[in-house]
Amino acid sequence: IEVSVRQDMEKLQQTFPHFRDGYRLIKRIGEGTFSTVYKAEDICYHDYVNRWDIDAEDGQWTPPPLKSSVSHMNPTVRPPRRKPKFVAIKKIYVTSSPARILNELELLHDLRDSPSVCPLITAFRESDQVLIILPYFRHQDFRRYYPKMNVYDTRVYLRSLFTALAAVHTRGIVHRDIKPTNFLYDPDKKRGVLVDFGLAEREGADSKPCLCHEDRQVRRQRLQQSVAFNSAQTGPQPGYPKLDTRPSRRANRAGTRGFRAPEVLFKCTEQTTKIDIWSAGVILLTILCKRFPFFNSADDIEAMIEIATIFGNKRMKLAGQLHGCMFDTTIPTISSQGFSFEKIMLWSTCRSDGGRDGTANTLTPEEKEAIEFLSRCMELDPTRRISAEDALRHPFLQVDVE
Ligand code: ADP
Ligand code: MG
Repeated sequence: IEVSVRQDMEKLQQTFPHFRDGYRLIKRIGEGTFSTVYKAEDICYHDYVNRWDIDAEDGQWTPPPLKSSVSHMNPTVRPPRRKPKFVAIKKIYVTSSPARILNELELLHDLRDSPSVCPLITAFRESDQVLIILPYFRHQDFRRYYPKMNVYDTRVYLRSLFTALAAVHTRGIVHRDIKPTNFLYDPDKKRGVLVDFGLAEREGADSKPCLCHEDRQVRRQRLQQSVAFNSAQTGPQPGYPKLDTRPSRRANRAGTRGFRAPEVLFKCTEQTTKIDIWSAGVILLTILCKRFPFFNSADDIEAMIEIATIFGNKRMKLAGQLHGCMFDTTIPTISSQGFSFEKIMLWSTCRSDGGRDGTANTLTPEEKEAIEFLSRCMELDPTRRISAEDALRHPFLQVDVE
């Protein structure tokens, strides 16, 4: 273990005086924008009352035991011949706001009965330092398994991901940061759990009506009014941010580059659980095209350009109008019609030249089904995008897990 990591581990143990009585730190397993995560052994016999427990050895979830609660930092006698119980300890950076930390804990608490969300065991605070304790879930790095995934593996993976999304969305929660590192997947067990609710929020919590949720007629009227209003104004032309005097739009943009839904980029003020579906679609696109990261933009404008390159200027314009935005570009690589997902998949898996005999330039029926499902997830209009519940009924996700 690196010296700096060892020092951090030492510091953590000093901050929490009784830490050593309860946990043995093993190693650092993750370092993100908002936290550092360690693997540790839970060395005393803790009753996780009302909590699901996970057996670190075989990855099986077991329902909570029906015993009375004991305090966490109050170790009881360790029962004989007990298998080691591993936990993940998420140390939240002190720069995170208390409101944000509370939000993450509250949402995890709300989701405690969902077997596809990594449950909260407990949490500790010592002045500005907060630790979240989760069962350790054995998983593999996405970069290791996605290149080898066939269509069957892809179905199984996505079924697991959409099962988790359906559970979260049913409770009216938007995860906001769906991406491979936040969905811990074990290809051997064919199971995954969702982690990291640091950016999650309740649907509608801070939303204001947006045009995308109005019916077509109303939307058209409002757009015409706004065009008339803008052309009546003298002064700077829209599109040059520094000169633009119109009030700026405000919307939650939390998420990760390359996984943001078009409505997030267009600063829709009424974002829904459908933003997670788009991100899950990006994961599917990555697996089908065997390119990670698929999108690689430095900022939101570049992200829009990437999406427009696929969908074409025409559909991108309509997508913007849904949220009262004008989208226009003179970039020559953005065509009017864009490209089909089928073409993109063939190109990125080097099958576009048709091979010698010209037979390789088509997708298998299974792959076509995958593409059809993908187009339902990466639908530009969030109101027409498939929901997690419906996705679970889609032919592509009908799969027997052996
Ligand atoms: P951040 O907010 O910093 O992204 P996450 O909750 O996403 O924090 O955790 C970061 C990483 O730590 C994850 O990508 C994963 O590799 C690891 N990790 C988090 N929770 C667990 C867990 N319960 N079991 C195993 N590994 C975990
Ligand atoms: Mg994360």
